[in-house]
Amino acid sequence: MRTIRLIVSYSVCLFSTLYADPIDGYWQQKVDYNMEITLVDTSQQLTGFTTIKYTNNSPDSLDRIYMHLYPNAFQLESVKYREYIGNAGRASRAKYFKDRLDGFTSKIDVHDFSVALPKEGASWIHKIQILDEYKIDDTILEAKLLKKIAPGQTVRVDLNWTHHVGEMVERGGYYEGQYNMAQWYPKMVVYDEDGWNADVFHAEGEFYGEFGNFQVKFDLPKAFIIAASGVVTDGDPGWESVTVDTSFDFDVWVDIYDSTYVKPDSSERRTVTFLAENVHDFAWVASKDFLYEGGKHNDIDVHVLYDKGRGDKWTKDVLARSIRAISWLEEKFGKYPYPQVTTTDRIKSGGMEYPMLVMNGRESEGLIVHEYGHIYFYGILANNEVDEAWLDEGFTTTQTTHYMMNRYGNHGFDLSLDEDRTEFPKKYWPIGNDLHSDQWRVISFMRSGHDENISRASYLYNNGYAYSRNAYTKPALMLTELKYILGDSLYYGAMQHYYDKWKLKHVNEQRFVNAIEEYTGEELDWFFDAWLHTTHHLDYGIKSFKKSSNGDGTWSVSLGIESIGSRFIPLLIETTFEDGTTDRRWWKNHLWRYEDTFNYSVDKKPVSVTIDPDVQTVDLDFRNNTTNMKKTLMFDWPGLWYNPRNEYVIGWMPNFYYHQESSGFAPGLTLDFDYGPYESTTTRANYAYETQDLYWYLGGWRQPVHFFPRTTFHYWAYNRPGVKELGGEVEKQWNRVYGRTPTHTISAGFYVQPEYDSTRAVKLGYDPNGKLGVGYLDWSSEIGSVDMNVNGASSLGNLSDWNFTRLTVIGSLSASKKMFRFKQRIIVGKIWTDAKGVPSQEGYNIEGNSSNDMVRKNYLVDQFYGFELQEGESLISHYHMPGEGNLRGFVGKGERGAEALAAFSSEASISRSIKKLNFNIEFAAFADGGLFWDRLDETSNVIGSTFNSRTLADAGLGLRLKTDIFEKDLYLRIDLPFFIHDIEGSSFGKENWVISFQRSI
Ligand SMILES: [Zn+2]
Repeated sequence: MRTIRLIVSYSVCLFSTLYADPIDGYWQQKVDYNMEITLVDTSQQLTGFTTIKYTNNSPDSLDRIYMHLYPNAFQLESVKYREYIGNAGRASRAKYFKDRLDGFTSKIDVHDFSVALPKEGASWIHKIQILDEYKIDDTILEAKLLKKIAPGQTVRVDLNWTHHVGEMVERGGYYEGQYNMAQWYPKMVVYDEDGWNADVFHAEGEFYGEFGNFQVKFDLPKAFIIAASGVVTDGDPGWESVTVDTSFDFDVWVDIYDSTYVKPDSSERRTVTFLAENVHDFAWVASKDFLYEGGKHNDIDVHVLYDKGRGDKWTKDVLARSIRAISWLEEKFGKYPYPQVTTTDRIKSGGMEYPMLVMNGRESEGLIVHEYGHIYFYGILANNEVDEAWLDEGFTTTQTTHYMMNRYGNHGFDLSLDEDRTEFPKKYWPIGNDLHSDQWRVISFMRSGHDENISRASYLYNNGYAYSRNAYTKPALMLTELKYILGDSLYYGAMQHYYDKWKLKHVNEQRFVNAIEEYTGEELDWFFDAWLHTTHHLDYGIKSFKKSSNGDGTWSVSLGIESIGSRFIPLLIETTFEDGTTDRRWWKNHLWRYEDTFNYSVDKKPVSVTIDPDVQTVDLDFRNNTTNMKKTLMFDWPGLWYNPRNEYVIGWMPNFYYHQESSGFAPGLTLDFDYGPYESTTTRANYAYETQDLYWYLGGWRQPVHFFPRTTFHYWAYNRPGVKELGGEVEKQWNRVYGRTPTHTISAGFYVQPEYDSTRAVKLGYDPNGKLGVGYLDWSSEIGSVDMNVNGASSLGNLSDWNFTRLTVIGSLSASKKMFRFKQRIIVGKIWTDAKGVPSQEGYNIEGNSSNDMVRKNYLVDQFYGFELQEGESLISHYHMPGEGNLRGFVGKGERGAEALAAFSSEASISRSIKKLNFNIEFAAFADGGLFWDRLDETSNVIGSTFNSRTLADAGLGLRLKTDIFEKDLYLRIDLPFFIHDIEGSSFGKENWVISFQRSI
């Protein structure tokens, strides 16, 4: 095997040095731009004179040409606009369009347009005009020609144009005094073996360009410092005047700079010319507040320009990160073909790549590595980003993950930059594996029922979320799997071959796959086709593990392997021995096989076996990958997560109940047994040693891995102070668009409460006179900021001593603008019952505090009502849990519930964050009210034959505090319903205070 590989790599080396530039049958057009650009800052306008020399290297004669006018997309009624309005693309960008682009419109006007051929044997001065007519539709200019451009012929395109620069929405535009100029000029559309790629600028989908040279001469106000793709060939970009002397402390240097730098006069102009050779796009950035730092990697100039206000984060670090990024890319993929690379600060969050220049909204190392990676994958290996976004986003996403994990460890980020990590409790908390997080994210999407094939034009994905999973995360994990099956050196060797062969050319899926197959000598269509053109899942499992001694100290292993999914991959099998050492070997009998037995022998007694031990594949369920799943026991810190792919996590937490009158102190322990999105089991036991009562809880949920997408099966049984219950529920969630409302959840379930410990149950608001069984069907919808809930419930025949049917409809909405928030809730409900009525726990409480909800909150079970404020008054009588009638002014008043109600709660509030103290404070004014009907005689508790109605209301003021302490979110609400209206009339009083750990609506 090794010799074969050596021969392969030797012949590949030979091949790559020998290959002559034209690859058989491959051609690409050549486009040389010469542009003169004037920036008029006062009107945010660019005027441009463009001359393009377009050489037709194709075998076809062209009767027309096309150009992109990308800025035109930022207009009302453009294709981009229409798609965003129709919910395509990313929601964060769609909002500008939904707000009708107020201030965010851009446009290119074309004034003169001509296409010409040189006269036979003469120069361009004697040109022959060949333009028939041109028209502009959306972002595409189409020019029909009188004479076809023959293969090998060069034409000259001249145009004058004006770009009205709008505020930045996506990639390019004006932002806080800065010009981030991407997709800013009339750009030739690519003509390739598929013909013209005259795609309009969709809501989702980036760019595709022809290679050539760009000479761009800028005339702009001198106060602007400018950076661009290319090298400066004439004039001064202004860098020297703003170069930071990093031998000083940054703040000290800025003070010196501020007191000495003379800002150029507004009438002064700067002219500077950039030349970018062998690129397919050209971008530039200009700002009056740029500072400059420069360095070198070998003979490559590395430039960094950042906003002065953000300098303390950018200084030194960004230059060092940029140099590290370019040296990593050269080492892993191949020599950088350009003389310079520039990192610029675009201020606005996000990042974007252009040849030789990136625009980054943060100083983050991961972002720099990602965008620099794009200069390779998009810039140098120039794919059509509209049709095959995965060919650049997937590649740079995976190389960034590999870089960060390689440099900082499996967690994949610089721990020293994360202040939280150095402090309690995160300091002692295990850090998740970066690759595992991406795998979980993709698994969740794959199981959602919304998965799509990776290979798809960006604008054809169902939504922005599907685009980001399919362009970024899924192909990134595909390449990690490729690295796993090839091994590091073959993987990087194959990537270098792909790079060498196709650098500065157009690439596509076939060219990439062929290059990998050429280098590795392996047929890999089975791998790429399944990943790129299907949504098949991968899930291998161990079916059996048999071991037998051979009598000579060696052991035979017979491993039954099954494929539960429908995607196949070779597996690395790790056998673990008694002494903890391991044996690793490959099972490669994977193709089109759902079951296999893998027989091998080892020289020690095996104790366990694991497939894919380094968790490199997107195997949906790791629990069946090993005969000895690792279990990690850890303290269950509220607010912190740890979710490994190959371990069960068992969280433990002590708890207690306290009730001074009956059980006294009852300490206990909770254990949570979890694995990813598939299972969670909670067990809890408390022992009251004075009364020798044992309280317990067992509950959890399961999600099937391969069937019933987004369906959860819940179960629970408990013996809590005063109440025993057994229940189960099936919950199914769906939405038309993944990750976006409307979201619907439908659940069906039941619970049975066989008997009550009456002294305690009464304290909890239960009617203890009989057993109770209830079945329910619940439908909840979230539609933007409106929530709807319809719940039907009914007593379960013999399992219940009461007989009733109940229908409840709840609607709520919230609206907020800046610091103001308004919330409204409406409930309408009715219970049909016989003469015995409905037990209080199933009726509608006036104030909320539904008995069942109260008992499910562990901290409300006992500790709270055990705490006496004064004689006969405990804290629980002031606790408000929202729900049912939700009239918070009636908490603790002992009002009997109702059998029918129509009630509302309204709240208007104003909030303020105090970031320094990590605190949010909110003041609210509220009003609750409603009509409540029951059949009891008001004075005698005798059931009447007709309904009595009561009109009840309250209003008041409240205060809410929100913070987190040691990562645990805390919310405290104090409401003062000083106005009360009941059947006795209206009253004012300040004794009606309530507290809560829950929001009121
Ligand atoms: Zn990217």
